[in-house]
Amino acid sequence: MAYVNTNFTKVSESYLFVEVARRIRSYQEQHPDAKIIKMGIGDVTRPIVPAVIDALHKAVDEMATAEGFHGYGPEQGYAFLRDTISNFDFKSRGLDIEPDEIFVSDGAKSDCGNIGDILGVQNVIAVTDPVYPVYVDTNVMGGRAGEWDGVRFNRICYMPCTMENGFVPSLPTEHVDVIYLCFPNNPTGTTLTKNQLKVWVEYALKEKAIILFDAAYEAFITEDDVPHSIFEIEGARQCAIEFRSFSKTAGFTGLRCGYTVVPKDLVAYTEDGKAVALNKLWNRRQSTKFNGTPYIVQRAAEAVYSPEGRAQIMENIAYYRENAKLMKETFESIGIPAFGGVNSPYVWIKTPLDSWTFFDRLLDECRVVGTPGVGFGPSGQNYFRLTAFATHEATKEAMDRIKNWKL
Ligand code: PLP
Repeated sequence: MAYVNTNFTKVSESYLFVEVARRIRSYQEQHPDAKIIKMGIGDVTRPIVPAVIDALHKAVDEMATAEGFHGYGPEQGYAFLRDTISNFDFKSRGLDIEPDEIFVSDGAKSDCGNIGDILGVQNVIAVTDPVYPVYVDTNVMGGRAGEWDGVRFNRICYMPCTMENGFVPSLPTEHVDVIYLCFPNNPTGTTLTKNQLKVWVEYALKEKAIILFDAAYEAFITEDDVPHSIFEIEGARQCAIEFRSFSKTAGFTGLRCGYTVVPKDLVAYTEDGKAVALNKLWNRRQSTKFNGTPYIVQRAAEAVYSPEGRAQIMENIAYYRENAKLMKETFESIGIPAFGGVNSPYVWIKTPLDSWTFFDRLLDECRVVGTPGVGFGPSGQNYFRLTAFATHEATKEAMDRIKNWKL
């Protein structure tokens, strides 16, 4: 008899987007002529920029030649990309991150999930609430979450982020071992300042905890006091891992590339207190379970850092940012508090109704779709997420409908 990993049976059904899709389908069947504008899913829509496409074409052509063919590459990523990342994302900001601390992957989702492989099952996990569901679900799969009590998993420490605390989580009152922080945040679109992040680094150092810092939306940062990397904070090399992604930065949601920084100073402990370097363990994990990001994709990622590439991707980001600004202003103009949108493609709205009732009314009365905040965690109740990834035209049309909405 083969036994199942019962941890997987505890993961809640991916109810959120399935239910959103079901409600849209049902509405569309009843209103076949309704022009629905979708601002729910966090996927980009602008095409990949020319500098990246040129690099992809060039790499594809190389693969057709005996000299330029690339088979299995280094599991950690090619030196050309690790060096470029180290220089542009870190050294240019005065941060000491070496190429061998950078692990190129097929995206931040895999890394956020897989990192649990090298962390003990006994760790107590803390997440902000609302939260990117991957952090919770992968810890359920890893056996660290405890039991579902109908609202929460009872071994996970949920740290509410709401209007009342300015979306800044408070330090846990009981000891935790691993803390997921995502800033700029999905779903709230809010950020921490350097001083606010410093509090977390100090906590982690004191508790010998590890911060898993997800900076997938780093490219959207506009404000000076918002850190682009947790390694801007002194001491973070001893307590943090950082995840980055080319998905939202450069439209790689379909191409797939990201990277994870595991500093060589970072350790976790055995039960008898022996320190083990995580850079080595992650290297071992990746070498065994991952066979590298495609050469052509890594060449494409390298082109993101070229002068043309950077200028072109910033144009796309500015395009989404303009949408976010309009969305935020529109909700504020009708008296609905709206957050995020300044350093992020997400606008988080405080709804006067519960999240799902707001969803239904917005769909029925404005034919606009977003994501109910409660789907991201219990503290997301009475909130709603809209994404800035639609076209200018669709965003403007949606906001015109909302401006005239009698809620
Ligand atoms: N981290 C956060 C917070 C995200 O919102 C997303 C995607 O929506 C990801 C990671 C996934 O990034 P990738 O496309 O690199 O897997």
